[in-house]
Amino acid sequence: MKYSVNANPPGVGKTFNEKKNIINNKLKAAIFSKEHALLNEYESLPYSKHVRGFKHTCELIENNEVKRLIGEDIPPSLICGHMGCDLKCEYHRQFKRIRLLLSPLNYFNSNKIDLDKYEFILIDENVDGSRELTYNKEELKKEVNKLQWLALWEAIDSMDIEWLIDNTIKINRMIMIKNEEILKSNTNIIRLNIDDLINFIMIDNAYEINKPSYPYPDIFDIFKKGRDIRLLSATFDLSVFNKLLERYRREFDPLLECEIIVEQEPQSSKSLIIRVGNSHHYKSTMRKSLDKYDLYLKQIRKLHGVHCQICVLTYKEFVKDGKFFGVPAFWFGANKGVNLYEHYDVLVVFGSFIYDINGYKELHELIYPGQLAPDPGEVDLNNAFGVMLPVNGKYNVLWQKFVETQTYDAIHRVRPLRYIRTIYCFGYVPHKLMLELEYRTMLEETL
Ligand SMILES: [Zn+2]
Repeated sequence: MKYSVNANPPGVGKTFNEKKNIINNKLKAAIFSKEHALLNEYESLPYSKHVRGFKHTCELIENNEVKRLIGEDIPPSLICGHMGCDLKCEYHRQFKRIRLLLSPLNYFNSNKIDLDKYEFILIDENVDGSRELTYNKEELKKEVNKLQWLALWEAIDSMDIEWLIDNTIKINRMIMIKNEEILKSNTNIIRLNIDDLINFIMIDNAYEINKPSYPYPDIFDIFKKGRDIRLLSATFDLSVFNKLLERYRREFDPLLECEIIVEQEPQSSKSLIIRVGNSHHYKSTMRKSLDKYDLYLKQIRKLHGVHCQICVLTYKEFVKDGKFFGVPAFWFGANKGVNLYEHYDVLVVFGSFIYDINGYKELHELIYPGQLAPDPGEVDLNNAFGVMLPVNGKYNVLWQKFVETQTYDAIHRVRPLRYIRTIYCFGYVPHKLMLELEYRTMLEETL
């Protein structure tokens, strides 16, 4: 398997180049992203079709019964069966006969899309999320009881992975039939995801310690397809990728061969990134004297003039209705609306994004699920990164790979490599940005 990764920063024309490649080579492509806004940018490709979720395509969406079932989180296929549209509605039809597919990433693994039909698969999005897989016997038993299938329960109870794999198709069909019946009188359907269950058991089997839950990184779904795939990911990190690959081999397939090609060109721009003062403006500090930040903004407004477009990046708790003291604002960790901020001339960053101790432990779980997370220890303020970090060095690496990249990604929303921007940082400046942009420092008093 071959993964090529375009890891150039946002705003240097990654999407443009991919489109050119698809057109020039007349590729039969499938393009996935978590963001419809990104998929929209591919709509100009000839023969492309942008598929959408149930709520945007179901013709009966105004029907009260459909609304109720969506509210109860009933899967679309069951709703369709229940409403008698026989999978012939627009939601199901849209997946048929597509030459160039533009799809939300959550359909990547669904049986609605046959990846074998495409010669080029592109994922335009950082694939770095994870979800929790759990094994709760009582909950499982409750669900299996609705099916009244003893052999299935025995397999789950004894974690008989072979039986479960051999019978996956049959189990899913039985659940579907039973659920259609249940849905006629109530919405207490069987909620049993057999793939997740198999994944859980495979992970659990790989380790000595038994845990009730494991984080499952979404990149595993991609490994499992056994296909060459191209990724566009500005925050791609080869060492994290290799750690997850090691995990995958241990848990799922020791023989998985994987070739990784990372493309990354050094970037530079005349945009300015200015570190103001040397305080980190942590949440608790900001809370104590929030009005001060309004004054900083007014000063910056004076420096740049009334016509200048200013936006703010800060902690979520300080953003109210998309604003911070009347200025458009977004927060650390938000990953919606990637293109919303690309027209602002000035970005003011208030704060230094860090994780709390539990956040670090969760990261540790993701990379080393079979080990107990070490005690992070006291906070070290005199480290190479210059922010509050646990003394235990293992967490510092995780911080750099996961947490710093989030701030990096957020600041890139104003596209400082494509346009000339000014970024004021009241807090930590990610190292990579110091290299890409012109880095300066200034005192708070001289602002
Ligand atoms: Zn339907």
